Amino acid sequence: MSRPPRHLADLGLAERRQAVAELGEREFRADQLSRHYFGRYTDSPEDMTDLPAAARSALVAELLPRLLTSERELACDKGATRKMLWRLFDGALVESVLMKYPDRVTMCVSSQAGCGMGCPFCATGQAGLTRNLSTAEIVAQVIAGERTLRSANSAPTPIPAHSRVSNIVFMGMGEPLANYKNVIAAVRRLTDPVPGGLGISQRSITVSTVGLVPAIARLASEGLSVTLAVSLHAPDDEARDELVPVNRRWKVAEVLSAAWDYAAVTGRRVSIEYALIKDVNDQPWRADLLGSLLARHLAHVNLIPLNPTPGSKWTASLPGVQEEFVDRIAAHGVPVTVRDTRGREIDGACGQLAARAVPARTGPGARPARIGAATSAPAAVTVPAGATSLPLA
Ligand code: SAH
Ligand code: SF4
Repeated sequence: MSRPPRHLADLGLAERRQAVAELGEREFRADQLSRHYFGRYTDSPEDMTDLPAAARSALVAELLPRLLTSERELACDKGATRKMLWRLFDGALVESVLMKYPDRVTMCVSSQAGCGMGCPFCATGQAGLTRNLSTAEIVAQVIAGERTLRSANSAPTPIPAHSRVSNIVFMGMGEPLANYKNVIAAVRRLTDPVPGGLGISQRSITVSTVGLVPAIARLASEGLSVTLAVSLHAPDDEARDELVPVNRRWKVAEVLSAAWDYAAVTGRRVSIEYALIKDVNDQPWRADLLGSLLARHLAHVNLIPLNPTPGSKWTASLPGVQEEFVDRIAAHGVPVTVRDTRGREIDGACGQLAARAVPARTGPGARPARIGAATSAPAAVTVPAGATSLPLA
């Protein structure tokens, strides 16, 4: 299988300087190119007026090849949510979603084309793994988001204009920890200050995993302050073996133990993702079990109403059942939020994409969760990967 072309974002600053020197240019040209890409989001030679005209196109061809070609773009929520479908150099397709909120802009990125983990409720999982994305292919999704944001800011939206992506969630296609090396390098590129990278805060980055235990341990040792999200979906091995097949390798207890180690090392609260599926994992006893497993740990639960894939036998839980599930978790003193699939009423296609977490009760007697209510300070923003692959497929 051929590899994506080498790109500046695949390399650290020292390697970029070396690459530029090998092309017969002075090393500081690498910093100039990096500032154009990470600071101004441009890879067009004509924008690079500080570089000698003769050198520009060769440097751009060698170090800033176009990695993503726009295949399709969908907007909803009056432009506040945009989903982008990209074609990669070899024809593989991946998606990203840009979501504007009053207080931040979140970008959901893909880490792989497809996914090999086979979770039966997830559209990405059904198709299997095509390949890992390169570091630069991941970073390029965010750069594209920055560009879109700038152009979209000229159009009026109900949400105040933000000029920069502030948060990144690895919740698009793929299992980020199965593409470990490239994902960690992408996190470093996204968080290193310009000219090394984009300068986004590590704390504003969420890596979501199906529960690859050794990789969670390795992530904890990286010295990064990123948020870990664990897609649990069931508190017991019987249900999780079916919903998340990798559970046959690493059981619930091992996954949670790795999560608590991560919380201890980083001091970061772990987000436990749980897609509520009618009559499959939404029983009251499972809520109680989940609550008791998480109580007194540095965790919060993010419940996701299932977004059914075409032909699936499964559907989302009934509202009353979901309410009770929330109550029972909260009764254990565990913070719990329900993800609201924003835009569902506005546009069926986009309604399956973007989401925001709505603060729910954090203890007995607290106010009921208001699904769909606007909030100024959601705890997290997440997008179901499988769901995102539906409307554009
Ligand atoms: N592979 C990683 C990250 C991408 S999936 C992971 O599984 O964590 C991002 C989140 O969307 C996960 O929590 C995943 O379980 C959830 N998800 C996938 N398909 C979904 C669907 N059809 N409905 C609701 N959530 C879904
Ligand atoms: Fe892969 Fe995550 Fe989908 Fe499971 S839920 S198949 S790990 S993308």
